[in-house]
Amino acid sequence: MVIEQSLEKLHRRINYLRLSVTDRCNLRCMYCMPEEGIPFLPHGDILTYEEMLRLVKISTRCGIRKVRLTGGEPLARKGFIHFLERLSDINVLDEITLTTNAVLLKEYAADIMDCGICRINISLDSLNPERFFQITGRDQFDRVWDGIQEAERMGFNPIKINVVAIKGVNDDEILDFARLTREKPYHVRFIELMPVGKENIWSVDKFISTEEIFKRIQTLGALKPIVSSPLDGPADRFVLDGGKGEIGFIGALSQHFCDSCNRLRLTAEGQLRSCLFSDQEIDMKTPLREGREDDYLVNLIGYAIENKPEEHGLIKSGPRKCIRQMSTIGG
Ligand code: SAM
Ligand code: SF4
Repeated sequence: MVIEQSLEKLHRRINYLRLSVTDRCNLRCMYCMPEEGIPFLPHGDILTYEEMLRLVKISTRCGIRKVRLTGGEPLARKGFIHFLERLSDINVLDEITLTTNAVLLKEYAADIMDCGICRINISLDSLNPERFFQITGRDQFDRVWDGIQEAERMGFNPIKINVVAIKGVNDDEILDFARLTREKPYHVRFIELMPVGKENIWSVDKFISTEEIFKRIQTLGALKPIVSSPLDGPADRFVLDGGKGEIGFIGALSQHFCDSCNRLRLTAEGQLRSCLFSDQEIDMKTPLREGREDDYLVNLIGYAIENKPEEHGLIKSGPRKCIRQMSTIGG
């Protein structure tokens, strides 16, 4: 079966590919990549940019129209900007976006914008340099903040700031992040801590639901809902009274949004995943390197779409930890 058009399953149009370009990172976030115990992939096992470009082009035949580049830290991979230039030449894509920790953003913001990318997601879990160090294992808060300011100056819009809320670690900063949306036009999005990776800090004690975060923020003022379009992704969006920006809530665990999930994920080593929380993967790298034809690869992507789980089942089964590290999947 050759799939020449978008496939729909369970009314979900799968049109969004998250592509992890590297498993390496210049930070060591406690919930993603612990300092010890994570073996990195040998360089030869990571897809080359050429291979990624071929897979993205092929995936557009299966309906993919949006690509998010992630990692590891995408800006830390050598030659990333040149890859971005070539990716942005794929005209059939409607949107290319980037998720970054912003350590290298100040240097690359102008190049990224020159590639036509003006929407960006930045991960930042603390506004306090010492706390930032405690969470990420690196003393890089100032560089990250400078990167965010540079992105604002360059006109990136929106600038989304993703905050993973962890009880007892940074939940005392929830209100500070909410207040930031009154000072700046940023879209701050609170994300629930997820049980991903063999080495994972997830526990009930550290988990804080988006419902609880919402209630705490309400103490600052009213949260006015924003009507989202289907392309906006899984966040429930609000404006805090007096806000220039927005506040979003992504309850990946507590409020699963599987019935509207439009994503596929390609890991840095070329494994295609149709659900973040399922360890079922399709090996794209081997057939790619065996020189298989495009139609063969199209069928594999079609198979992943057809077999996308209906739901992650974590609410019923309770949190179980999927084996692959988040840094190789890309979030
Ligand atoms: N290095 C880039 C960054 O941090 O933005 C891109 C890759 S990172 C794996 C992508 C996203 O996954 C980040 O927003 C990060 O906070 C999130 N993430 C990683 N591990 C997580 C976990 N266990 N629970 C919730 N979010 C997680
Ligand atoms: Fe690196 Fe992003 Fe993982 Fe933090 S969340 S360790 S920045 S890949």
